[in-house]
Amino acid sequence: MVEEILANLYKIEIPLPRNPLKSLNSYLIKNDRNLIIDTGWDQKECLDAMQAGLTQLRVDLKITDFFITHLHADHLGLLSRLATETSTVYFNQPEAERIKTLGRWDDFIDFARKNGFPENELQAALHSHPGFKYGLKKDMSFHIVKEGDRIEIGNYSFECIETPGHTRGHICLYEPNKKILAAGDHILDDITPTIQLWSDDWDPLREYLNSLEEIRQLDIELVLPGHRGIIKNCRERIGELKEHHERRLEEIVSILRRGTQNAFEVASQMSWDVIYEAWDAFPISQKWFATGEAISHLKYLQEEERIERRPENRKIVFSLKKADTNHSM
Ligand SMILES: [Zn+2]
Repeated sequence: MVEEILANLYKIEIPLPRNPLKSLNSYLIKNDRNLIIDTGWDQKECLDAMQAGLTQLRVDLKITDFFITHLHADHLGLLSRLATETSTVYFNQPEAERIKTLGRWDDFIDFARKNGFPENELQAALHSHPGFKYGLKKDMSFHIVKEGDRIEIGNYSFECIETPGHTRGHICLYEPNKKILAAGDHILDDITPTIQLWSDDWDPLREYLNSLEEIRQLDIELVLPGHRGIIKNCRERIGELKEHHERRLEEIVSILRRGTQNAFEVASQMSWDVIYEAWDAFPISQKWFATGEAISHLKYLQEEERIERRPENRKIVFSLKKADTNHSM
């Protein structure tokens, strides 16, 4: 499905079958060299939808470049089927390195195990992970961009804005004259970008909240998000996203008042906006995302020194600091 958003700027909707995100928004800017922002999974339905859109818009991939907001498979996966020998692919440094790391799935699995993910479900979780199933299958060479770099295309002059949080290297494209922001998964309407942590070396929620604040300072009339509808009230939406995470943090504090727990146990008691009534009925991929989300919030609380983390029986467990425990009654 193709929609013209602004002059020479189109949205191509790429379905993500059997996934709660429903679809990915790929954006195309037409010019003597075209630019495609984000692509879809490496999977047949995505490729078919993309090809139909490109045919309708008479896009020649031989004169088309790509900008990828972040490494997730729904944004990056289809790239290797679309990019040609002459395509420039703009991407960020940390994630260009990340996707080359061998054994990255082993690290994921280890970290999930330590955080209480059930041993007998780990392999199934990996095999249902979209990154594993639909991610980039071959090595690509990237043109690395960073904060402040510009991508000029026709009447559009995009500025790269680093927005770590949803992923470590996430970059948005800002067009200050047209006041538009290609936001990837930094700001979404109707659903909340997932903030997960699957390693121990950063605090994604803190970085996400800082990145939201950075975007809030900009003059933006139209947000072009990676999923769902176009957003006109950018600042208001940013306010809602911040509140969402504040509520989440408090929810986790109150869950920890019940006692010391690992992240998987915490996730199982959080409230999730899903159709399943009980945690046990969650599909394994949803349990995985929920656990990652719990871990990022636990990390934030730990950095704030509101909770403590310690190893116990080869797992990591969390408990409240004294001050918070006292407020519980
Ligand atoms: Zn994403």
